[in-house]
Amino acid sequence: MPEGHTLFRLAREQSVLFAGRPVHVTSPQGRFEAGAALLDGRVLDEVWSYGKHLFARFGADVLHVHLGLYGGYTGGTGAPPPARGALRMRWVADGPDGDGVWTDLRGPTACEVLADPDVDAILARLGPDPLRPRADAGRALRRIAGSRTPVGALLMDQSVLAGVGNVYRAELLFRHQVSPFRPGRGIGAELWARMWADLVTLMRAGVRMGRIVTTRPEHRSRTRGAVSLEDARYVYRRTGLPCRICGTDVRTEVMVGRNLYWCPVCQAT
Ligand SMILES: [Zn+2]
Repeated sequence: MPEGHTLFRLAREQSVLFAGRPVHVTSPQGRFEAGAALLDGRVLDEVWSYGKHLFARFGADVLHVHLGLYGGYTGGTGAPPPARGALRMRWVADGPDGDGVWTDLRGPTACEVLADPDVDAILARLGPDPLRPRADAGRALRRIAGSRTPVGALLMDQSVLAGVGNVYRAELLFRHQVSPFRPGRGIGAELWARMWADLVTLMRAGVRMGRIVTTRPEHRSRTRGAVSLEDARYVYRRTGLPCRICGTDVRTEVMVGRNLYWCPVCQAT
């Protein structure tokens, strides 16, 4: 599932290509027909992300998209390709240079037109998003520090923290030597302040690079040049491989329906 940095990039990209111009909105598959008809031909004001949610404002109406596990966008310039398969929504517009631009959405868990109160209701259910400039880290801490639930589960709970997924969860816990099984109330304010600041840095880097790299140069097999996928993470998808710090085999276990990865020595408590 894409994490917050991917949605942030998508929002920015869609804003650059489509905002300020009328957008031809269709639903070739038909499952978003009424919504598409409502938005078709209207000027797109802006696109923004919050956590894993994408919002596009067309005047008083807001398009809400959640990609879920299987959703994704494709796009390009010039004339769009023939519409095929389960194409939920297509946007076509005269792009910033006057050339045609298009983007296709397939397989989202949500693609709906909302009014502002509905948008507010969604945002009210979400925790702070580390990529938002004025995000309130303390709101997440209050939820974490007041809970007996393992911190590994709390970090994935979008009502605690918005935008963090499986990769950032595993890597953040490793970088702070915190066991994913430690109860939330075992995370103090000072530790959380460090974790939050680190998460902001990591996610901003994710936005910049378009991928998640969490390792420090001294912990990679190649310390110069582009970071290979094998070198990019400490524990995520490294089951059975030696920990970059202590050499112990990285372990995995299912937590909240997703594979959790951790080093049992570096993250003993
Ligand atoms: Zn280790």
